[in-house]
Amino acid sequence: MPTYDFTRRARRPSDPDVVVVGAGLAGLAAARVLAGHGLAVQVLEATDRIGGRMATRELDGFRLDDGSHLLNTAYPEPRRALDLDRLELRPLAPGVLVHSAGRRYRTGDPQLTTARQAATRAPLGSPLDKARLGSWLGRLAATPAARLQSRPETTAARALAGHGLAPRTVDGFLRPLLSALLGDPALGTSSRIADLVLRSYARGRLCLPAGGIAAVPAQVAESLPAGTVRTGVRVTSISADGVETAAHGRIDAQAVVVATDARSAADLLPGLRLPDFHPVTTFYHAADRSPLGEAVLLLDGDRPGGQPPLVSHSLVLSELHPSYAPAGQALIATTVLGRRAFDAGGPAGLEPAVRARLAELYGASTAGWQFLSVRHLPDALPAMPPPHNLRRPVRVLAGLYVAGDHRDTSTVQGALVSGRRAALAALRDLGLPAGAREAEAAA
Ligand SMILES: Cc1cc2nc3c(=O)[nH]c(=O)nc-3n(C[C@H](O)[C@H](O)[C@H](O)COP(=O)(O)OP(=O)(O)OC[C@H]3O[C@@H](n4cnc5c(N)ncnc54)[C@H](O)[C@@H]3O)c2cc1C
Repeated sequence: MPTYDFTRRARRPSDPDVVVVGAGLAGLAAARVLAGHGLAVQVLEATDRIGGRMATRELDGFRLDDGSHLLNTAYPEPRRALDLDRLELRPLAPGVLVHSAGRRYRTGDPQLTTARQAATRAPLGSPLDKARLGSWLGRLAATPAARLQSRPETTAARALAGHGLAPRTVDGFLRPLLSALLGDPALGTSSRIADLVLRSYARGRLCLPAGGIAAVPAQVAESLPAGTVRTGVRVTSISADGVETAAHGRIDAQAVVVATDARSAADLLPGLRLPDFHPVTTFYHAADRSPLGEAVLLLDGDRPGGQPPLVSHSLVLSELHPSYAPAGQALIATTVLGRRAFDAGGPAGLEPAVRARLAELYGASTAGWQFLSVRHLPDALPAMPPPHNLRRPVRVLAGLYVAGDHRDTSTVQGALVSGRRAALAALRDLGLPAGAREAEAAA
């Protein structure tokens, strides 16, 4: 059982100033801020690789993320903390393709003028309804984030009816889009988070790095002094002046930042709130031909029996960048959301049903598709029901800090900000206050 230990021990010259537990995006971001202020930092990672939930692997020439991700170019912290040009971001086509009642239609392109939105052929109601969607997206894009955060808070599902949009626009666009972006098919997420996510959708572009999502944490890790990250080191207990590890003894430090996933953080820091989680299951298929000639987010807009559909969304990754698949092959990533009971075959047992639905969604035979892989992550995304605190405390006590997406929002943005906030809190306690701009970024 992990315990807090407040005894200060004598430090060896080889001890780091700060130990960061976990080399996910939050831990790497925290380490970069701390190292940038001249501190000797050691990042201890239990697995044999960096990046945590943002991982990519190669399989027979296909590039598979460890669960389908999308980056939004409007998130402020990635713009601040990452060199987006070097990530070679590949944007998805603007708007989304929704499949509903046997038809596919394109909608929700925030770049379209209200008049052009009204003229779209999407069956989302009258031209007036479609024009309303256009101006609503425009207004949302222009609304300051702080104002959205001060709106009354309920669930995203309940807030849908209050946007003044036609029911067909809500069901045929907003609901499937939000489910996909939040990973939450029941839309129990805080309406404030939903507003912020939709605002980013309206302001930016969804995209992926050409090298896969793992390129994001890899870029942050590159900026750390050599030897900062040690993989294969599991921390078993923590105190304000060091950590115990499973096989590498004790490591003393002046401060410890716990930057693990929420469940591991709650194990290491008894009393820390453990959130619920949204699972994400991603199926990867290979096809001889691309079922769509572009990289556009394809959403399943049908709700059989009023329930969320089996497939949330699908994307032809090889249309985004050819390096995602070997020459002459297409790579399709399909996301299934929600908690599900699997039979003895595990998540792969769902594949025939997913494949059958994909044939309807893409309007193409999937019989010849090759099932490459499925990745099921039960704790993929910490749930963010109302009331959601966008800035949970990161300072446990002087010398002990906690970072991770569960402190902010369950996104790349949230992980990066939480790392910066935890690092700034540690710097303050160590008497090394950060610059005004840095503090402002974490506010
Ligand atoms: C399938 C999926 C899809 C997603 N899609 C999106 C998306 O489209 N857009 C978006 O913005 N975000 C998305 N996210 C969320 C995003 O990936 C996460 O918010 C972010 O990666 C969290 O980073 P983190 O550093 O907080 O935690 P993690 O990535 O979980 O890192 C924690 C690290 O701590 C390590 N660790 C745990 N315990 C210990 C220990 N005892 N000792 C040492 N190390 C330990 C772990 O091994 C891990 O490397 C998605 C996540 C998933 C899983």
